[in-house]
This record gives sequence, structure tokens and C-alpha cells, in this order.
Amino acid sequence: MARHTDSVCKQCRREGMKLFLKGERCYTQKCAIEKRNQPPGVHGNRRMRRKVSDYGRQLREKQKVRRVYGVYERQFRRYFRQALKIKGLTGATLLQLLEQRLDNVVFRMGFSSSRAQARQLVTHGHITVNGRKVDIASYSVRPGDEVGIYETSRSSAYFKDRVEQMGRHTAPKWVSVDAATLAGQVTGLPSREDIDIPINEQLIVEYYSR
Ligand code: SF4
Repeated sequence: MARHTDSVCKQCRREGMKLFLKGERCYTQKCAIEKRNQPPGVHGNRRMRRKVSDYGRQLREKQKVRRVYGVYERQFRRYFRQALKIKGLTGATLLQLLEQRLDNVVFRMGFSSSRAQARQLVTHGHITVNGRKVDIASYSVRPGDEVGIYETSRSSAYFKDRVEQMGRHTAPKWVSVDAATLAGQVTGLPSREDIDIPINEQLIVEYYSR
């Protein structure tokens, strides 16, 4: 799939729900879903009334998750193949693998207001794992890993400002964060209940099992 260069909010409108791709703006009245919740395009209204097939529902569910985590189709398929090889429910394992991505963990810890911003922090070399700089957004963290901010980046205006906002952030229970020292730790693996995205992962399994 080509890189998405269109308006980010169009992705939410296409899926008919908030995907929280833009950070703080998503919680305000400026959110496009709050203002106009209909699919993009001149025939958007008509699309809403159309009967959706089983395939359509499966496809939409898969696209939703891919958009939330900012993962391309080929990469997403790779995660699915990986999940198939792991014992347990494939759909839940798929979500767990996505949650373990370093950019997602940075977002979950509150170092950024969106996954897109977290990805930028990682690729620009601001993030460390167990004391070593890691600039690969898809890096998979494991329980016990310590996630922090690179020494020289700590004094930047962004992170000084972030400390205050992190005080208001609630991290999921599989990570712990100390806002004062900008240090976090992965304390376990996320369970399905820890993943607050309203999706039916079984439809994704069905999509790839056709
Ligand atoms: Fe989606 Fe956020 Fe845009 Fe609202 S503001 S449409 S939640 S990306």
C-alpha cells in the first residue's frame, strides 16, 4: 500500500469512528468526527446507507487496526503470520504483537500524545531501550525492558513540556512510568482487556483466512 498522504482525519471518517491519530486535537470539538461523521468524498452519504457484506466488515476491521497502529499492509500481514505461529487466540496475539511495538509503547507511556508522534521520537533517535538508543519504530519490547529518553534529548523543550502532561496521563497496567525521571518499564505483556480499541479482532482472522 502506498504511503498515506491524505488528511489524517479522513481515515477516521472512512472508518466511521475516532481512531485518535492526532493526539490532543482528537479530544476537542475540532475533531472531524465530532463535526461531520460521514465517509469522505462526494458520495460519502450514500456509502453510509449501503449494505455491507461480510467481506466488507472484515476488511474495515483490518483497516481500522492497521490505521490505529500506523502499519502498512505488508507489515501487518507479517504480524498476522507471526501471530498464527504463537499458541493462543490469533486475534488477541496479533493485537499483543502490535502493542509491543516500540512506537506504541512510547505512546502508551505518555512520552507522546499520538502514535505518529511517538514514531517520530523513535526514528529521530530520542528513545532508548535498556540504556541503548533504538531508532526502529517496529522494535518489539519485552517484559523487563526499560524505555527512556536519550541523554541529550532530555533537556529539550519538548520533553521539559512533556513532564507536566505525563502527570495527567494514565498508563496501562503492563507498563510503569516515572514522569519526573522520564523513565518507563515494561512490566508484562498486554492482555486483551488492556487494549482499549473497540474492534472485533476475530473479523481480521476471518479476513486473512479466506
Ligand atoms: Fe480522528 Fe483525531 Fe482527526 Fe478526530 S481529530 S477525526 S479522532 S484523527
